[in-house]
Amino acid sequence: MNRRYRKTIIAGNWKMNKTASETKQFAEDLKAILPKGKWCEVVVCVPFVNIPAALRAFKDMRVAVGAENLYYEPKGAYTGEVSAEMLKDLGVKYVIVGHSERRQYFGETDITVNKKVHAALEAGLHPIICVGETLEQREMGITMDLINLQVKSAFSGVPADKARKCVVAYEPVWAIGTGKTATAEQAAEVCTAIRTAIRSLYGARVARSITIQYGGSMNPKNAFELLSQPDVDGGLIGGAALKADQFVDIINAANQE
Ligand code: PEP
Repeated sequence: MNRRYRKTIIAGNWKMNKTASETKQFAEDLKAILPKGKWCEVVVCVPFVNIPAALRAFKDMRVAVGAENLYYEPKGAYTGEVSAEMLKDLGVKYVIVGHSERRQYFGETDITVNKKVHAALEAGLHPIICVGETLEQREMGITMDLINLQVKSAFSGVPADKARKCVVAYEPVWAIGTGKTATAEQAAEVCTAIRTAIRSLYGARVARSITIQYGGSMNPKNAFELLSQPDVDGGLIGGAALKADQFVDIINAANQE
């Protein structure tokens, strides 16, 4: 990570876990152990229905609340969907876009990801754009080409001043929820390639200002090494973000680096 040019961001992705009352309990547990000094930005991305509870619970804790998804249309007949403006109006700061589970189970594509990035930015949200290869794609040797394509399509049509507000999360699909973490070298290699792709789109100044996270079975044991890589500026954390003590251990690892 490089604190001089960009924010370190540790973000939890709760996926479809926790009720509103469990959200409150988590916040109480976190409050008791969260370090006071503030090096890194802490974000908790929660299911839509838990957003009001999370905003109340984290209010005086310097923990930003994020959503896990949004729909790209501003309003209208899209039953069951939630717009960027609705999230912004509640007080949400970040929104995960293009998580591999959404690509895999809900038909999200590079095109819808790009539309969602535009919608989030338009509303003043910070999209956390997820990119990553499957095991098959890694074994075929096409990781870098694929990441390049995912990054370029996610940012398509996004002007430089808005691109700066984006976060990119490198999440190898084979490492998500599997306990198989990318090695620090693998994470470093791809995160550097992501920054190179951004540089080719926007130039060096924008590229060095964008936070690039690693996600995929990050835990208190491997966090420090992963976060020590020059282009790894934080983590997007699933399983280990559900327990306050593990989440804080990762925050501490980020503060220590
Ligand atoms: C995720 O959901 O983005 C994730 C990285 O999950 P896990 O940490 O459980 O692999």
